[in-house]
Amino acid sequence: MSILDNLNENQRKAAEIIEGPLLILAGAGSGKTRTLTYRIAHMIKEKNIEPYFILAVTFTNKAAKEMKERVESLVGIEGEKVMISTFHSFGVRLLRMYAKYIGYDSNFGIYDSDDQLSIVKRILKEIGREINLTPNKIVSIISKAKEDGITPEEFEEKRVFFHDYKTIAEVYKRYQKELLKNNSMDFSDLLIYTNKLLDIEEVKEKLQNRYKYIMVDEYQDTNDIQYQIVTKIALKYRNLCVVGDEDQSIYGFRGANIDNILNFEKDYKDAKVIKLERNYRSTEIILEAANSVIKNNTTSKGKKLWTDKKSKDLITVYEAKNGIDEAYFVAHNIIKNVDNGRNYREFTILYRTNAQSRIFEEVFLKHNLPYKIFGGMQFYQRKEIKDILAYLNVINNPNDDVSLLRIINVPNRKIGARTIEKIRDIQYKKGISLFETLKYIEEATSVRSNTKNSIIELYNFFKTLIEEKEFLSVTEIFDEVIEKTRYLDSLEEEVRVENVLELKNSIIEQETRENNIQLSEYLENISLVSTTDNLEENQDYIKLMTIHNSKGLEFPVVYLVGMEEDIFPGKKVEFDDKELEEERRLCYVAITRAEEKLVITYANERNIYGRIDSFRDKSRFLDEIPMNLLKYINRKEEKTIIKKEKSKKIENFNPFSLKNKGLFNVGDKIYHNKFGNGIIKNIEENKRLIIKFKYEEKKIAIAVAEKVLKKI
Ligand code: ATP
Ligand code: MG
Repeated sequence: MSILDNLNENQRKAAEIIEGPLLILAGAGSGKTRTLTYRIAHMIKEKNIEPYFILAVTFTNKAAKEMKERVESLVGIEGEKVMISTFHSFGVRLLRMYAKYIGYDSNFGIYDSDDQLSIVKRILKEIGREINLTPNKIVSIISKAKEDGITPEEFEEKRVFFHDYKTIAEVYKRYQKELLKNNSMDFSDLLIYTNKLLDIEEVKEKLQNRYKYIMVDEYQDTNDIQYQIVTKIALKYRNLCVVGDEDQSIYGFRGANIDNILNFEKDYKDAKVIKLERNYRSTEIILEAANSVIKNNTTSKGKKLWTDKKSKDLITVYEAKNGIDEAYFVAHNIIKNVDNGRNYREFTILYRTNAQSRIFEEVFLKHNLPYKIFGGMQFYQRKEIKDILAYLNVINNPNDDVSLLRIINVPNRKIGARTIEKIRDIQYKKGISLFETLKYIEEATSVRSNTKNSIIELYNFFKTLIEEKEFLSVTEIFDEVIEKTRYLDSLEEEVRVENVLELKNSIIEQETRENNIQLSEYLENISLVSTTDNLEENQDYIKLMTIHNSKGLEFPVVYLVGMEEDIFPGKKVEFDDKELEEERRLCYVAITRAEEKLVITYANERNIYGRIDSFRDKSRFLDEIPMNLLKYINRKEEKTIIKKEKSKKIENFNPFSLKNKGLFNVGDKIYHNKFGNGIIKNIEENKRLIIKFKYEEKKIAIAVAEKVLKKI
């Protein structure tokens, strides 16, 4: 019996080639990710390779987590030592270790797009020049320039953006300065600096010797910097296995370079190539539809997938009168299927753009259908959450001016814009961090003494926590912040309070999971949380997400909605064939997410770009699917079945649910996803469970336990 008995012949071959460069090139659902997972397990268990030497890079945190869990379930506790992560998380780890090489402190902060935006807005105000671009656009120009390796000076020389290039170059220059001064990095920096680290001989050598075996999933969507990172580390041992599908390259707009996978055999002349041709995910009809769409791309090599999943179920197509009718149809169709025995969790709605979710949300609410939206406004993007995190950021990294500015007057401490300007003046004169400047507030003339007092109070509050942070748990720091700032009192809406409490839940969860996590580690974990990370498989709700977010995932029933020209493909394709081909690949990704059933819908009329369009065309991609695979259905069939059902909208995150109190008793046998079976030994203060698992004893807060434990 070998671990590899769980793979088919070609997958097995790929898993057995451990030395040298290897390319696994195959269509959707052919088991590429599965092959990587078993390959890692095989290396550890059957080839005695130290897990410590293995690096596997995936595209999302969710994929990394799944692979990790799978590997651990195959090889046991040893699997923990394998480095399985996204490029960004991997980068963060290296950068913390080697920060000093690039002029950063190892506790650097990480700025998301929101933070970037607020910096750019402030700089624009400071330089006070007219510019014809939105701050958002400027952020993306700067990010692009950074990722292309263009410095602010070069940007100005090159006059990249003709009209406003001088102003943008100036903003770009100040933006970079600001980041460095704040000891913070944006997402581009995480990759750029990781790549720079690898130009330092000493660091490169260490990493080359450590990561002797490297695997990259979704290689078709790596960008140039990621490509360089991989290439540099793999240079010495050349045990590099990349996996991908050129037909699923969908991040070109963010700089992904499809040539990375197409040129692999040129980069590594001795590369072995394995193709997988059997699809295990979808029915024959779904697969044929996907193939017939993608074959219209000139870049597609036209690989043929086959499956033995036979089914007579044709692809259902519904032509809706308008957008509302479309959403009603989907809701009724789901209700009908649930009546026939399916669960909500089996349904996923995929759309091209985030904005399309709103109408479905409204209709689902009306029908009391449980649903969850992935992407869009994320939990960690909400104002109240970002406020609290800003406090934690300052405590972790006192140089973080951006975070301090965010909350210097939140809750209201009567520190107005003018006072802040005065503090900034002092700061610029002294050349120190904003936080350190607070203690010199006496030097500011004409600031009222009340205000001065509250500034000093704020300074002392932070100072104490900064000094004590090493001795406190993250939960304790959180509690201290909430208590001293009286932040909750300042919130008017109950749901915001619940969100803040939910944040505490997430802290407790992480502390339980990772024993004694440091504040910096906690902040790092959440700054890397991505949109699909919170997909919990076992809860019963309908999922809604963009096609981009569905990458690598699979669902029993998929509704592909808004299949209309100008939405999918979008307007941009009109004069750009490359763009059109990327959209078509996206369509291929969408279709191949479906396991059993695919439903496609479009509307004749829709409110779009702020006006009503009554003459909409169905998507050309739909026309590319042969008629014999499609079944157009009529609305009447569905209309009769509006069921009054008591169900609920499940929020992205649920607040403390107290209704289960008393659920756990001493002596109960329970099951935990990671630690396995256990027994409750004690309950402390009605708050924490002490649980004996097979290998260890754990404390788990009851609020957390309700989510992570199952009674058995
Ligand atoms: P994508 O291109 O969408 O990322 P993929 O090629 O990575 O897809 P996987 O997600 O690894 O494909 O596999 C698709 C499904 O098929 C999974 O449910 C997987 O467990 C199943 N599968 C793959 N290979 C086998 C096999 N040899 N035996 C049984 N099931 C398999
Ligand atoms: Mg995959």
